[in-house]
This record gives sequence, structure tokens and C-alpha cells, in this order.
Amino acid sequence: MADAFVTLTSEIQAKSPSISFINSNKGKPLLVADDYTFKLHKTTTSTKHWICTINGCAAKVHTDLNNGLKKTVGYHSHLREKEKLEVREAREKMIYLKVHFLTLNIPA
Ligand SMILES: [Zn+2]
Repeated sequence: MADAFVTLTSEIQAKSPSISFINSNKGKPLLVADDYTFKLHKTTTSTKHWICTINGCAAKVHTDLNNGLKKTVGYHSHLREKEKLEVREAREKMIYLKVHFLTLNIPA
């Protein structure tokens, strides 16, 4: 069991996300890691604390003051923004096709 735990831990650490930064439409800095978005929660003398933009989600990211990734904390309780977007797009496409198909099949 101990061996498995060590392997798992090192795998998680090896898969640290690539992070980037954007500005929200309110001009606030946002951190993007693995298609998840985080907002700046607080800054200490050595660490910036970023929290997930989804209310109630426990995932956090710590960076140093130069925005270098220090660690990720916790797990997301929801899908990635991109996945959500894809689900929505697929649903809209299906609704469109259904409407279109039904329209085409109305007997003249
Ligand atoms: Zn989250």
C-alpha cells in the first residue's frame, strides 16, 4: 500500500497544470489552469492564493508573487469550462437539427 501511495503522489505532482493569466471583464486578474478559472483571493508576503471562480468549489492554486505555480490544492466539484461549453454547444446543435428536421418534414 505504501508503494502505491508514493507512486500516486509522484504522478499527481508530475502532472502540474500549465497556467496562464487573463483579465476578467471587470479588470480583475484571473488564473487559468487546465481550463479551470481562478480568481485572486488574497496575497501574502510570499504567496498569491487563487480560488476557483465557481461558488462552493474547494479547488485552489497557490503561486509565488511572480505568478509561478507553487501548488494546486483540492479538487473541483464541477466540469471544466471547456467541457461545459462543449456540452452546451452539442445540446444547442441537437435542438437546432431537431427543429430544422421537423420543419423539413412538415407535409406540404
Ligand atoms: Zn472549481
